[in-house]
Amino acid sequence: MTTYLLRNASILGGETTDLLLADGVVAAVGPDLAAGPGADGATVVDATGLLALPGLVDLHTHLREPGREDAETVDTGTRAAAMGGFTAVHAMANTEPVADTAGVVEQVWRLGREAGHCDVFPVGAVTVGLAGERLAELGAMADSAARVRVFSDDGRCVSDAVLMRRALEYVKAFDGVVAQHAQEPRLTEGAQMNEGELSGRLGLTGWPAVAEEAIIARDCLLAAHVGSRLHVCHVSTAGSVQIVREAKARAAREGGWEVTAEVCPHHLLLTDELAATYDPIYKVNPPLRTAADVEALRAGLADGTIDVVATDHAPHPHEDKDCEWAAAAFGMLGLETALSIVQETMVDTGLLDWAGVAERMSAAPARIGRLAEHGQPLTVGAPANVVLYDPAVRRVVDPATSASLSRNTPYRGMELPGRVVATFLRGTPTVLDGALV
Ligand SMILES: [Zn+2]
Repeated sequence: MTTYLLRNASILGGETTDLLLADGVVAAVGPDLAAGPGADGATVVDATGLLALPGLVDLHTHLREPGREDAETVDTGTRAAAMGGFTAVHAMANTEPVADTAGVVEQVWRLGREAGHCDVFPVGAVTVGLAGERLAELGAMADSAARVRVFSDDGRCVSDAVLMRRALEYVKAFDGVVAQHAQEPRLTEGAQMNEGELSGRLGLTGWPAVAEEAIIARDCLLAAHVGSRLHVCHVSTAGSVQIVREAKARAAREGGWEVTAEVCPHHLLLTDELAATYDPIYKVNPPLRTAADVEALRAGLADGTIDVVATDHAPHPHEDKDCEWAAAAFGMLGLETALSIVQETMVDTGLLDWAGVAERMSAAPARIGRLAEHGQPLTVGAPANVVLYDPAVRRVVDPATSASLSRNTPYRGMELPGRVVATFLRGTPTVLDGALV
């Protein structure tokens, strides 16, 4: 196994230092390690001007395999993840077949190991076939080789309160968490974009904020009632942030239950005004919201109400997006641009420092997913999951260069800050010099 010496990196934006990666772990941290023990014969990577962050962890990725290999495969999706600085992703369960048995989650887990670009942790479905009628084999998935801890019907909401209660009770047995896609189905029938003055003007069926907020409020009450762990996927409204903030205060007072929440990069940057283009590249679930919502999401992420940035990377083939708005699929790519969007919206605005970014894009998602080998600070003995990032460069997003099989990025042609220069998974580079290894 090759030893790597990263020279003059800035860990989380602090003083420059060297890092020695050997035998899968951070073997040494300090100045001038080249002359020190273990550095003999190491491959040197000049990290001058680069940030070193712990490998990023995504709680919410759609890899599409099995079933929609025309959109993405575990191999191509994890290539995109490595290019974005991720060393672990949670693969959502809405595949074909649905990941609702030990067999399917083990298949996805194995495909991830074979591809080798980053660790793949399958998410298990909450209900059989995502149908919302009866609980899937949560225990069997937890006990499988894939060791599932995160359960979600994402793409659909577990709208039945009794099923949601049972799921929250069930996952306590193995310290699991239920990740809810909060969308009250009756309030969003046929919904196409954020409900507001604009949806009326554009003639597109509105998606009211209350459809998200009502489910989040209900689920926080259920989690408190049964004493379990709830994770709220892709929070998108100011009201949702406030509900999570109040629920967290209650959980802190009471103890015995927990709510965590995530926000997606696109909800931190883009607004519903883009729907006026009628370009389905901006069609996403939950929808892009207002500038006031964006502001509240940024504030919630800054103050820790929202724990995690998760990509909701949702690849779609050309024919599913290149059609009229109402017929187009929901979703956009996210893995390769997530860190740049967070820099643009949170760091360059002064809302968050790099330590805060590492907490929200690595440590917190690893904690929620119960991943012992990820999200650890870059100190001696930690697994050598590292991303080297250049925050000073700017680049124009070109979908043609994406490692993903799909091209549906809303950032095409946009100039964004930063670039992932290298990603290391347990000391082995998956990306070097900005290219896949
Ligand atoms: Zn979702």
